[in-house]
Amino acid sequence: MGTLHTYYTRPMSPPWSKPLDVDRLSEAEADIDFAVPLAELSRLRAQLASVSGEVRGSVHFRRMAGIAVAELTLNGTAHLTCQRCLESMDVGVEAAAQVGLIATEADAGRVPEELEPVLAPEGRISVGELVEEELLLTLPIVPLHSQAESGVCVVADAPSLARSGQEEEVQRPFAQLAELLKRE
Ligand SMILES: [Zn+2]
Repeated sequence: MGTLHTYYTRPMSPPWSKPLDVDRLSEAEADIDFAVPLAELSRLRAQLASVSGEVRGSVHFRRMAGIAVAELTLNGTAHLTCQRCLESMDVGVEAAAQVGLIATEADAGRVPEELEPVLAPEGRISVGELVEEELLLTLPIVPLHSQAESGVCVVADAPSLARSGQEEEVQRPFAQLAELLKRE
């Protein structure tokens, strides 16, 4: 009686993990909306022992001075672990970045100053990698609740907010290229 339907399908790789052709997208001035689960970003997970939550946002591609540009905006909430009390803490994330995508490190010098250079080897990068670069800069390296004078954690009702944006005047080279830029 009845048929047992069993589907042996491989889990499909989510759209945000697919490497994109940045030249083609920037010529087409494409827009991509995304939702990325933070627990699946391996470099972020390596830096922040436990991280979960999700960010959503969009990327708009365009060209500037012959460089493929990704305008990234994202927001969401990161669930982190406080390194003092080891309880969970939520950090709201709001970020906006203008990224200059370069195929090799040698191209870093061609990136206009207002852009953050990011490597897209062979002209390819995924939305997940773009988001991860931004979050590595935005999220606290050592997450901590705010502290009372007694030294204990104050667990606030509202999550703290980690924010980055292109309005900042501080030069924030992406972690990936920080070493390279230091040498110049
Ligand atoms: Zn704490």
